[in-house]
Amino acid sequence: MAYVPGGSKKELRKADRQLATVIDLNKCLGCQTCSVACKNLWTKRPGTEHMRWANVTTYPGKGYPRDYEKKGGGFRDGEPQPGKIPSVIDSGDNFQFNHNEVYYEGKGQSVRLHPVSNVTGKEPEWGYNWDEDQGGGQWPNPYFFYFARMCNHCTKPACLEACPTGAIFKREKDGIVLIDQDRCKGHRHCVEACPYKAVYFNPVAQKSEKCILCFPRIDKGIANACNRQCTGRVRAFGYLDDRDSQVHKLVAKWKVALPLHAEYGTGPNVFYVPPMGARGFGSDGEITDGSRIPLDVLEGLFGPEVRRVLDVLRTERAKMKAGQGSELMDILISKKWTDRFGGFTNDPLTQS
Ligand code: SF4
Ligand code: SF4
Ligand code: SF4
Repeated sequence: MAYVPGGSKKELRKADRQLATVIDLNKCLGCQTCSVACKNLWTKRPGTEHMRWANVTTYPGKGYPRDYEKKGGGFRDGEPQPGKIPSVIDSGDNFQFNHNEVYYEGKGQSVRLHPVSNVTGKEPEWGYNWDEDQGGGQWPNPYFFYFARMCNHCTKPACLEACPTGAIFKREKDGIVLIDQDRCKGHRHCVEACPYKAVYFNPVAQKSEKCILCFPRIDKGIANACNRQCTGRVRAFGYLDDRDSQVHKLVAKWKVALPLHAEYGTGPNVFYVPPMGARGFGSDGEITDGSRIPLDVLEGLFGPEVRRVLDVLRTERAKMKAGQGSELMDILISKKWTDRFGGFTNDPLTQS
């Protein structure tokens, strides 16, 4: 069901179709191209600099915004849960750099180029992707993977239900969740309510903003930027009900792409292929057949289906190795890159 802004605050309407993204965590190399693709299009404006609508952090880690998993929101047993508003530092800050001082103020080697928090004016102690490449586990079995995230354009968006102004709506034709910037009053209840903390406050405009699923591109048949520009060929995109799309095949047919924190109750529409991980060493120091990423860590993110999914991935990979072929491996490999975009294959240069 979907709400639309209008005369009545929360008019209920059904979203006809749902756009979805699949992110294969086996392929993500943490390059941040998706983050920059989004930022260079949408979040260079005053007040949006700290926002990373597309973000990638190392997991295990504090995520983005920092500790978002501990900041509440979402639903439990269908009931909305209270949440906290991340600070600008939690949201990655907006480091400033002292280029003038280093290059033009005649200070020689006495100064160095360094970041300064845009919040405190001091050396930062946290920022976007601060815990990059740290991860978890103990030597000789450390483990981590990169986690790319964005707004999930949820089927039951907590952000939308929380807004007292009715400024948030879900497009009927494709399920994109948007904040009407003319109506937004900057109450930030949406920020509290979104359990993914995928809404960000713009302190200049005094309004909240979020991933718009690149709708100006989508409306022209161009894939969203974070998906199209991914160098790792990690991402698939399209309508969930399009049986020809990779997203449909991965989510509904093969069922190897799982929602993140489904227990938050919002029905997220970004799905993840869980990472298989490198094989671990046993207590005798010998290599084992098992992944070094603990299953319970992945289940904490993607739920109880993870074990089955990893089994399917291993089985299909073995078939491929044995020369038997595998539709699933073919999809995940995607030899033709445009096959990944569910028909949203127009060139970004296409003008309206
Ligand atoms: S992820 Fe958050 S901001 Fe995006 S639709 Fe869901 S509840 Fe709303
Ligand atoms: S879909 Fe577009 S707006 Fe949303 S995170 Fe990706 S690049 Fe940014
Ligand atoms: S662009 Fe692709 S490979 Fe690079 S960080 Fe983003 S999702 Fe991962």
